[in-house]
Amino acid sequence: MTAGSVLHRAASDPTRSRGRRHPEPRAPFGDEYGCDRDRVVHSTAFRRLVYKTQVFLNHEGDLFRTRLTHSLEVAQLGRSAARALGLNEDLVEAIALAHDLGHTPFGHAGQEALDACLRSLQHQPNGGFEHNLQSLRVVDRLEQQHAAFDGLNLTFETREGILKRCPMRHAHALEAIEPDGVARRFIDRTQPSLEAQLVNLADEIAYNSHDIDDGVRSGLLHLDQLDELPLVRRSRGEVLASYRQLRGRRLLAETMRRIRSHQVADLVDATRLALDAAAPADSTAVRQREPLVRFSPEMAEHNAQLKRFLRGNLYRHARVVETTGRARGVIGDLFAAYLGDPQLLPAEHRAGDKPHRAVADYIAGMTDRFALREHCRLTGRTVFDGA
Ligand code: MG
Repeated sequence: MTAGSVLHRAASDPTRSRGRRHPEPRAPFGDEYGCDRDRVVHSTAFRRLVYKTQVFLNHEGDLFRTRLTHSLEVAQLGRSAARALGLNEDLVEAIALAHDLGHTPFGHAGQEALDACLRSLQHQPNGGFEHNLQSLRVVDRLEQQHAAFDGLNLTFETREGILKRCPMRHAHALEAIEPDGVARRFIDRTQPSLEAQLVNLADEIAYNSHDIDDGVRSGLLHLDQLDELPLVRRSRGEVLASYRQLRGRRLLAETMRRIRSHQVADLVDATRLALDAAAPADSTAVRQREPLVRFSPEMAEHNAQLKRFLRGNLYRHARVVETTGRARGVIGDLFAAYLGDPQLLPAEHRAGDKPHRAVADYIAGMTDRFALREHCRLTGRTVFDGA
């Protein structure tokens, strides 16, 4: 099936979108999701992803994934699968490119540090910091690109895909602001669109694969170690069956490409079976079912193994932990400095009745390198050489 061919009857249909929060004329050619994707690409937050950490801090090397290249890889994998399944490629792309817009600098360490800072303000209870909610906040409120409204005013379907997870207390708070809105499904325990389900799994394929790739190229993981993973062993065996002499970089690249292909093919087959069995009448019917976009049980187990391997061997590697520990300190210092003296913030970030939230928004929007520069300016200390 190629682009432009018939969509699956349960695919999201832009002409039946639940629309935008601020009414606007229809997008040219009825291309509502393509319009969302374009707004994301032209946003400030999207450009900043290029200098935000995925696993390796931005200054550690030019060849590691950043949030930007990660988001592009998710979009590529998602679109390939969407095309094969007859799902809406533009919606998949819009969600994929926007799914990490709310990430802080310094990856998960940055998010945890900012969350801890907010939670420590016991006299001002607040929901802490959560990157899925922050991504929604970026596209709903923080982007300043339009004269008529704050945010990007994306369609309901793109926004629900961006809000991939939502703790119940936040779901109720969002539901109070936007009744029957994007948080409703967490309260009802229903599913999002097939396109949103697909992006979640494309995200998994992307990070499992590229974190192994970056891990090996950084020297923190060794190819031999990967032999404990049956999917890697099998894929490497396939490469060596055709290219017996292949070693090093090309062997790694060929192996990882085969792994991604196996995963996409498995996802497409398993999802087709699930769609055929469930036979949802339209895009609304899929919401009442189990998630229909899925891997086979065998591939789900392979993915769980990859995740466990990465957690044990890369994310908790002493060098990664040491670096992210320092990055945590940077976030903590910045938060304390801005909250202690709001005059240190740019004027447009001082407004509002919740200074802690304004500070969190400002810090969350920073790139790694801007955060390090600000930290040096405010404390006089350099945390990383060569940053
Ligand atoms: Mg991601």
